[in-house]
Amino acid sequence: MEPAELAWRDGVPESTRFGDVYFSRDNGLAETRHVFIDQNHLPDRFAGLAPGQPFVIAETGFGTGLNFLAAWAEWLRHPPANDTGTLHFVSVERYPLTHRDLKKALSYWPELQSQAEELLAQYPPLIQGVHRLVLAAGRVRLTLYFGDVLEAWDELEFHADAWFLDGFAPSLNPDMWLAEAITRIRSHSKPGTTLATFTAVGRIRRALAEAGFAMQKVPGFGRKREMLAGQLPPASHEQAEDIGAIAIIGAGIAGTLLARNLAERGRQVHLIDQGDAPGNAASGNPQGALYVKLGVEYNAQTELAATALSFSQRFYEPWQGQFWHPTGLLQLAATEQEADRQRRFLARNQYPTEVLTPVSSLQASELAGLPVEHSGLWFPRSGWLEPAKACGNLAVHPRITRHSGFQVTGIHQESGQWRLTNNTGQELRATTLVIAAGHQSAELLDATGELRLKSIRGQISGLPAEAFNLPQTVICGTRYLNPAMGPRAVTGATFDLRNDNPEETLESHQENLDELVNLLPSIRKESLPDPQSLSGRVAFRCASHDYLPVADVFTDDAGKDIDRLFLFTGLGSKGLAWAPLLAEYLADRLTSQPACLPRRLSKRLSSARLYRK
Ligand code: SAM
Repeated sequence: MEPAELAWRDGVPESTRFGDVYFSRDNGLAETRHVFIDQNHLPDRFAGLAPGQPFVIAETGFGTGLNFLAAWAEWLRHPPANDTGTLHFVSVERYPLTHRDLKKALSYWPELQSQAEELLAQYPPLIQGVHRLVLAAGRVRLTLYFGDVLEAWDELEFHADAWFLDGFAPSLNPDMWLAEAITRIRSHSKPGTTLATFTAVGRIRRALAEAGFAMQKVPGFGRKREMLAGQLPPASHEQAEDIGAIAIIGAGIAGTLLARNLAERGRQVHLIDQGDAPGNAASGNPQGALYVKLGVEYNAQTELAATALSFSQRFYEPWQGQFWHPTGLLQLAATEQEADRQRRFLARNQYPTEVLTPVSSLQASELAGLPVEHSGLWFPRSGWLEPAKACGNLAVHPRITRHSGFQVTGIHQESGQWRLTNNTGQELRATTLVIAAGHQSAELLDATGELRLKSIRGQISGLPAEAFNLPQTVICGTRYLNPAMGPRAVTGATFDLRNDNPEETLESHQENLDELVNLLPSIRKESLPDPQSLSGRVAFRCASHDYLPVADVFTDDAGKDIDRLFLFTGLGSKGLAWAPLLAEYLADRLTSQPACLPRRLSKRLSSARLYRK
């Protein structure tokens, strides 16, 4: 991304590209309140919301985030009915401020300091595409599109209750005010949506009126005589929102994070698993690395992976010291093929250094605290997790009812409800059902053999910490090696297609040890423990034919979407990285809130693609 180019005059930022100010020199915050907050009648509308009801504001031009922070502060002033409601703020920015400039610009507003700090702590890397920030413990969600405004409105799925049109003066930045942009504003609006803008230009007023907004000139802020406010006709009848319970089958990392996300948005969730505790199958390992493999080409697959990685790093941040250990992660070029791939990757892409930097073997050795003989990529914000503990902790919430040891044997749809039965004759009802049961999902959907999902055996090996010089950071190559966790460190995992042996085998331990020597040749073969002495764990990951996850409404073999039935699986060996973003995305859809993924990415997660053509 090209960052904003700023000139500062008396602490007020000005765009040198557009020759306009980001906010009024007189008092930017007072202007924001007058123009955007008051003319959209936000205080009264926030106060009048039903408990749990979301409110969506969309903005053209995120700039310094002043409007966003002001709207957020206003939202927090109306808390009682809204303890589970979410303020969604959808904004677009083609030339984002760097973190440094944003910090400087926001230091201007002491009364917004706490919000500004939270925004700065989560401000995403300047990578094109969508960034979702979950703020104020989930009460505020920011969907920030880095890219051009028309592309943003084509790619994002949302319907706004109010608009802030703030894209510099139309004479200085006609692109933001094109007829195409105004048509899209109309199609992303709910009935009764309001809008406000600082400009009073006649051409803009007429274009908005033509799009259906009843437009009004109202007094502007300070020395500006006039501004524009508008509203669409309200709906003839209110559509009732579905607030019934949601059942999720599968309490692995996918199901658990989705349950948690929905519970925090005020929904009642049944989290069902045949095991005795959340995270007892593929997500049950004691240690797991947080990483993705970024492709040489920056295509949809790479964009999805990069988005998932940075979202997951933000998501786990509050759990540092509990089950999240952000030690950094090295992806070593341990084979000639990988070295070549990394060379091409680096020649094509320039990621911000907070995402990754190339390192020599010497730098890698310093970071790892042990001799490393390969160069690689350093992911400073990655690390390792305790997946079983993560699932256990996150499944505890007053709105989540856990049903452990519940083996679903029957799924029936009856009078608008899902009825689930188990082998002991118990039953459970919910209006929406999500299948997040890893490699057992196809069987539950009665579609075994039809869906291109496969199960891949993975065995990990626990290494005794005293026998090894263990790294300070996670090291990945064809295997990963974690830093010590108490007396042990986990390495693994094998990747065994067409192998359904649930028992640990000696061969798999041996294979893990052999791969470790390839990854870190400084580990001498003679010093390795006897594989007989190792203990580990076997689990089965679920992967799709194209190795991308599935997070979508379920489509049957006739191509028909099944109402209120969703599939969330295929996270492969990258579940820890995929689950936070995709749980957020599915929760957006299940609650009809703005989507955190652009269409070009969400369509890659479809369930229809699982059928052979
Ligand atoms: N709302 C902002 C705030 O609270 O600080 C101020 C927005 S500033 C007046 C307008 C913003 O629109 C600038 O940050 C500019 O980079 C952005 N912008 C201009 N043209 C754009 C385009 N075609 N697509 C997306 N963003 C654009």
